[in-house]
Amino acid sequence: MIKKDQNTVPFRLAIASGKGGTGKTTVAVNLFHYISKDYSHRVQLMDCDVEEPNALLFLKNAVLDAEDVATQLIPVIDTDKCTFCRKCVNYCEFNAIVVIPFAGFAEVNPSLCHSCGACLVACEDGAITEYPSEIGKIRSYKLGQNGILTEGRLKIGSAMQTMVIKKTKQHTWKDVDVIISDAPPGTSCPVVETVSDADYVVLVTEPTPFGLYDLKLTVEMLREIQKPFGVIINKAGLGDHKVQDFLSQQKIELLGEIPYSKEYASKYASGNILDNVSIETEVQYKTIIRKLLDHHT
Ligand code: SF4
Ligand code: SF4
Repeated sequence: MIKKDQNTVPFRLAIASGKGGTGKTTVAVNLFHYISKDYSHRVQLMDCDVEEPNALLFLKNAVLDAEDVATQLIPVIDTDKCTFCRKCVNYCEFNAIVVIPFAGFAEVNPSLCHSCGACLVACEDGAITEYPSEIGKIRSYKLGQNGILTEGRLKIGSAMQTMVIKKTKQHTWKDVDVIISDAPPGTSCPVVETVSDADYVVLVTEPTPFGLYDLKLTVEMLREIQKPFGVIINKAGLGDHKVQDFLSQQKIELLGEIPYSKEYASKYASGNILDNVSIETEVQYKTIIRKLLDHHT
């Protein structure tokens, strides 16, 4: 149980996996469902898979509560003030600025700009100002008394996944006890951003050679950034025993195994993952939750 008088509230969990298709979002949604149902905790699910957020598809009766536009500041150059000195070009680490003195041309490429502000510092002629440009939407949905889903959705064509994730995570619910962040698949910057403030990371894998390969990469990444983590094997019984062998060799905590079921896979396809879950699966999730909450002492 989360003790409300602790300074450590909220308890931040992140759900990650080295590859897509392991059932990471299914696990995140089930953990969210059982913690908010069985404990008197306020739980927030953050869908940080901003290129393809889909947790909402599995949560019935979600009611839109708030909507926000995620923006980034993009510099714009006033060519009437610009002396074409090219200092801003030299300051920009992302090659986002083109200045051609003989043509009187100076422009910022918004798709390369990371809004670091260096060019504004570089320009001594006051030729650069900034304007807010939309990079995505952040929506929050209420789910009963104890639950909220906050979804970050990247604008089509934008490459600012990490920035949208950062802004999504700023939308923390008031008095929340547990935050579950569903990371994008892989081990790249958006994943690191999602797990960066987690107290504990749950890795979801499947018992196949591909699952094991991607699990090893994710384990390496989490060890590098020194995050405590454990593993859930989803679709257990489907493949071989090599993932379990790897975990015991590496002394990695196995949080639980969710059995593979054809029936469950068809429920996923129709968005009904929380209806009529088998007793075995429900027991597994409840055991995993007890282990996770025990990590918050
Ligand atoms: S804000 Fe940073 S990334 Fe964007 S154009 Fe200026 S220097 Fe380059
Ligand atoms: S630093 Fe300022 S004046 Fe110089 S090229 Fe860039 S925008 Fe123009």
